[in-house]
Amino acid sequence: LIKIEHLQKKYQDNLVLKDINGEVQPSEVIALIGPSGSGKSTLLRCINQLEKPTSGAVYFQDKDLTQATAQDLSQLGEEIGMVFQSFNLFPNMTVLENIKLAPMRVKQMNEQDAETTAMQYLTRVGLAEKAAAYPDSLSGGQKQRVAIARALAMHPQVMLFDEPTSALDPEMVGEVLAVIKELANEKMTMVIVTHEMNFARKVADQIWFMADGVIQEKNTPDELFNHPQEAKTQDFIQKVL
Ligand code: ATP
Ligand code: MG
Repeated sequence: LIKIEHLQKKYQDNLVLKDINGEVQPSEVIALIGPSGSGKSTLLRCINQLEKPTSGAVYFQDKDLTQATAQDLSQLGEEIGMVFQSFNLFPNMTVLENIKLAPMRVKQMNEQDAETTAMQYLTRVGLAEKAAAYPDSLSGGQKQRVAIARALAMHPQVMLFDEPTSALDPEMVGEVLAVIKELANEKMTMVIVTHEMNFARKVADQIWFMADGVIQEKNTPDELFNHPQEAKTQDFIQKVL
């Protein structure tokens, strides 16, 4: 579904992504792990073109996003959902309005259908009763579940998560991870940047370990955690487990 080839990203003189290669198959769940500053967020942002790669290619359904026209991109952009650490909900809109907005504006869905879809996803994340609430009145875990429902309401082909639980109080981490786990069970394709190693182990098909602007090692959770091949991976695993 996604193929990354020789991706590079440079900020001024800082070569953050040196040479990233990888493929994400339909229904696959990838957990992207690695030290702070290694470029995980930058890679996610290059995949959905929030950031323009310096060179290399990102294919989505065989189309190179780095070469796509603005019109192609806005279409393809709908197929890639993203959830951020900081929720990014609109504070002046209710939960329901937050979720309805993109389907109506971008997909030209009528209000009735958008509302039905929104309620459907709100129910899935267990927050139907919060439809009329404003984001400020929700807990962090609830905000993040609304953000997930909002992304899902666009019916994306793939979901990108950038540390979805790292801004949450510990007691709210579980409810958000449970929603993501359910998506995995339903075979949603996902790339998840996370520091939750136990979660990565349980939910991911593949772990990509990133350091120094390259993916040092890719493997199944069992192999990567139990038999890391590279010294850098061993070092990291030892520190976080
Ligand atoms: P963390 O685990 O802390 O979130 P990360 O792996 O997500 O780290 P990135 O946020 O991708 O790391 O940052 C990688 C490097 O790129 C850092 O050195 C950062 O300073 C730099 N960087 C990221 N965004 C920008 C930007 N917009 N302009 C300049 N430099 C940037
Ligand atoms: Mg980051």
